[in-house]
Amino acid sequence: MSRYTLEVDLGDRSYPIHIGAGLLGQAELFLPHVAGMVVMICTNTTVGPLYAAQLKGSLIQAGAKVVHTVILPDGEEFKDWPTLQLVFDALLQHHCDRKTVLVALGGGVIGDMGGFAASAFMRGIPFIQVPTTLLSQVDSSVGGKTGINHPLGKNMIGAFYQPQMVVTDISTLNTLPDRELSCGLAEIIKHGAIADSAYLDMVEANMPSLLNRDPGLLAQVVKRSCEIKADVVSKDEREGGIRAILNFGHTFGHAIEAGMGYGQWYHGEAVGCGMVIAADLCRRMGRLTAAESARLTKVVIDARLPALPPRMGVDRFMELMAHDKKADSGSIKYVLLNGLGGASTSPADDTLVRQTLQELGAG
Ligand code: NAD
Ligand code: MG
Repeated sequence: MSRYTLEVDLGDRSYPIHIGAGLLGQAELFLPHVAGMVVMICTNTTVGPLYAAQLKGSLIQAGAKVVHTVILPDGEEFKDWPTLQLVFDALLQHHCDRKTVLVALGGGVIGDMGGFAASAFMRGIPFIQVPTTLLSQVDSSVGGKTGINHPLGKNMIGAFYQPQMVVTDISTLNTLPDRELSCGLAEIIKHGAIADSAYLDMVEANMPSLLNRDPGLLAQVVKRSCEIKADVVSKDEREGGIRAILNFGHTFGHAIEAGMGYGQWYHGEAVGCGMVIAADLCRRMGRLTAAESARLTKVVIDARLPALPPRMGVDRFMELMAHDKKADSGSIKYVLLNGLGGASTSPADDTLVRQTLQELGAG
């Protein structure tokens, strides 16, 4: 069975990502980090009952002194201060100290919250990510962004904090709802579109097997996506420049999420559609051929993601994009492709953006 380890190269904050089927049961992976340690598993009411017992078994087998668990309510609406406080409550009630290892077991919400709790508890404790959604395996577990939402904005409170290690068990994807699987595929398609056209070809050719959760293929794709994201992040950890290309499809996507009310469209769905809109804009700007734009659209549809924007009104779309935090100094910065497999940020002519939105049906 395919199994990979890759290193995220961040100097003294470098860490390995282990990828494969059944890794939750492999105690030796955890041993260097938990032998003799107190461990706190942070998970939620959905993932905990599925995987916490197996993880705990491996941690004990790896020599952990004791393993505690804190179970948070499930949902983006709980990515907030009161819920974060539950993690600190548990750590303090169990007399945890600076050597306690926090293991985040769940999707991106748990990873972001667990990482933020680890960054702040006693000014920073060791942290291991065990991502269990496809999106968190290819995206949020790489790059060190952690945090919570504020009522006035998503991910507004947080820290850059790198884990000691990421353990990505592909087998956990077997219980993931189809809609969540497709959301992970959106970010995977994005990685191909911005950085590696051969990878996009591979994802396109294997879409049915990916949707069927073929473990070997999933492991391969998670590995390549992590490599691409890690490569971008290691060049620009704190998003001063090139890291912004990871937002391909996101400027339009965020407008859809905000305009439809968060939760109506899932993030990956909005990004899928956002990439279709961006591809059409790139075609109008001469950055993609009509065939390339059509192809990206087809891959999005193949991944069972929506390709057509909701009828929000072009003015509303433009207004929401201008408010997006990625808009610098008045003009919206778009991530645009330079053919399939390359990207850069650039402003775009409002008239062209409006034409794109109008003709795709957002008007
Ligand atoms: P999520 O964490 O809400 O998980 C989606 C749903 O799937 C939840 O209900 C969860 O309980 C459930 N689930 C998780 N694993 C499961 C499994 N194996 N089987 C069955 N159900 C399972 O959502 P997500 O898409 O993983 O992550 C989205 C979050 O990640 C957002 O808060 C976003 O801001 C954040 N994010 C962060 C970064 C970053 O760089 N830190 C990047 C992208 C996204
Ligand atoms: Mg995203």
